[in-house]
Amino acid sequence: MRIVLLGAPGSGKGTQAKRLVARHGATQLSTGDLLRAAVAAGTPTGVRAKAAMDAGALVSDDIVLALIRDALETQGVRDFILDGFPRNTAQAQALEGMLGGLGQPLEAAVLIDVPEAELRRRIAGRRTCRQCGAIYNVYTAPSRADGVCDACGGETYQRADDTEATVDQRLATYRAQTAPLIEWYAGRGLLRRVDGTGAVADIDAALERALAG
Ligand code: AMP
Repeated sequence: MRIVLLGAPGSGKGTQAKRLVARHGATQLSTGDLLRAAVAAGTPTGVRAKAAMDAGALVSDDIVLALIRDALETQGVRDFILDGFPRNTAQAQALEGMLGGLGQPLEAAVLIDVPEAELRRRIAGRRTCRQCGAIYNVYTAPSRADGVCDACGGETYQRADDTEATVDQRLATYRAQTAPLIEWYAGRGLLRRVDGTGAVADIDAALERALAG
């Protein structure tokens, strides 16, 4: 499986990527998760990325491309779900070049479509486990005990960039820089669209149909 999950912040890319991994065993490559880990560890990449992330802007292409190149070319990942990458046309072109060089072109880019009002509600309620990365929502899918991950007992927290002040900027960044990728992938015959609202099990099923089609 070699796919890209496209969608605005809060559309469920991370949740669906984890569920696809559980069903298909591919590797989730989330540039957001990799960047947050770099920030938490205080690596040079993390130090360079932090300001843009806090502002809801995109981190520079050279940083995220290095992360993806490392996964594909150094670690040799061949079966993957890209979540949060690419986020602009330059990144999509670079990915196409890398995968072309490996003779392993992308199979599909799946857009998880969610209206903006719903995205805002989801982001404001999102909580993430510090330890295992499990995702909850205080309104729609809370953990059993407040602040404690069901899966591993770790602490759940609200991402610094999930606050209302940053969300407007992240949605604006998505509209201006990432949404054009919908047409870009449609032009290559790779785009599939999935309704990202409703029950998670229904979204799973729609995603599987989109991948089979
Ligand atoms: P995410 O968890 O995917 O919402 O990403 C969180 C933040 O990390 C984004 O708001 C960006 O600042 C940064 N980021 C993640 N992926 C990328 C990417 N492909 N290109 C640039 N910045 C990214």
